[in-house]
Amino acid sequence: MKEIWVYIETFNKKVKKVSLELLTKANELSQKLGAKVVAVYIDKHDLDDTISKYGADKIIHLYSKDLQIYNSQIYTDALYNLIKDNRPHILLIGATSIGRDLAPRLAAKLNTGLTADCTQLDLDEDGLLLQTRPAFGGNIMATIICPEHIPQMATVRPGIFEAKKLEKIPEIEKIEFELEKDCITKTLEIMEKNSLLKYITESNVIVAGGRGLSKKEGFDLLRDLAKELNGTIAASRAAVEAGWAPQEIQVGQTGKTVKPKIYIACGISGAIQHIAGMKDSKCIIAINKDKNAPIFKIADYAIIGDVYEIVPKLIEKLRTLKQ
Ligand SMILES: Cc1cc2nc3c(=O)[nH]c(=O)nc-3n(C[C@H](O)[C@H](O)[C@H](O)COP(=O)(O)OP(=O)(O)OC[C@H]3O[C@@H](n4cnc5c(N)ncnc54)[C@H](O)[C@@H]3O)c2cc1C
Repeated sequence: MKEIWVYIETFNKKVKKVSLELLTKANELSQKLGAKVVAVYIDKHDLDDTISKYGADKIIHLYSKDLQIYNSQIYTDALYNLIKDNRPHILLIGATSIGRDLAPRLAAKLNTGLTADCTQLDLDEDGLLLQTRPAFGGNIMATIICPEHIPQMATVRPGIFEAKKLEKIPEIEKIEFELEKDCITKTLEIMEKNSLLKYITESNVIVAGGRGLSKKEGFDLLRDLAKELNGTIAASRAAVEAGWAPQEIQVGQTGKTVKPKIYIACGISGAIQHIAGMKDSKCIIAINKDKNAPIFKIADYAIIGDVYEIVPKLIEKLRTLKQ
């Protein structure tokens, strides 16, 4: 039986959300392909309980008692040995910093193709994985196939698919492996980014700023609002290009895809490329002084007015409510 493998990324005894999103997608593809879904992870801790809630038919847990944190060479070699013996049909990996390090190393060792940063996955009538991603600076969407080699490998950005719980009782395989003694690289420490940047794809509340803020300091105001709502900040490409916000927090076709419970767009016009990254937010609140701004067409709540008048009022109101 064909197998779709999902590499489950773990950190600090937790499973990355993107891995669970990929498990859900793998389940959808497996029904079309008649394949088995296999979740594979490397960790010295046992995280089977979390993973099994998202519908794996089998979990392979690679562990070593001496294993501390992610190491490119050790993880690549451990997965390579497993994959070359099992020959899965498809291998999906989250396009996180670690996924982007691991996937190309694995693809090169396995002599197969890899499509990075996919935004859509499907199957053709022959069961080939259709891997779609923006190309040429986001001006076209390219669908890429890998007909000659397996596994067909793709990385997918966090937030593209939804993680849905699906109870299955998976077969569980535990494999202990020895750490390589001649490993030439050593990971000294993994440092988490500034917490406001970290959670953009996992945050329930996002306050995003655009060119309408007209200055970098506008983001300080948005940060205050985000803090009151226990959320994080994001930006349009125009704000990033103006140097007011880092690229990591850009939302849109060439940035991150987000689906928070609340997305507050401040001084963002609602260009199609921006909307592509936030349209699936549960509740969209737009603040814009132009009543004809396209963002209002997809907004659940439209606030027509100046960001610098509205946002301080919202902050004040939230602070009063908390007293
Ligand atoms: C290939 C390609 C990929 C792209 N990828 C992305 C992407 O990933 N993400 C992205 O965001 N864009 C992307 N873009 C750019 C996109 O087309 C828009 O140019 C960009 O989203 C505009 O950003 P903005 O809404 O902040 O600025 P603008 O379009 O300039 O809008 C500013 C808005 O602020 C309002 N405003 C002004 N002052 C105030 C005020 N004081 N109070 C309230 N409202 C105010 C204005 O009425 C206006 O609606 C891409 C473009 C291309 C061609």
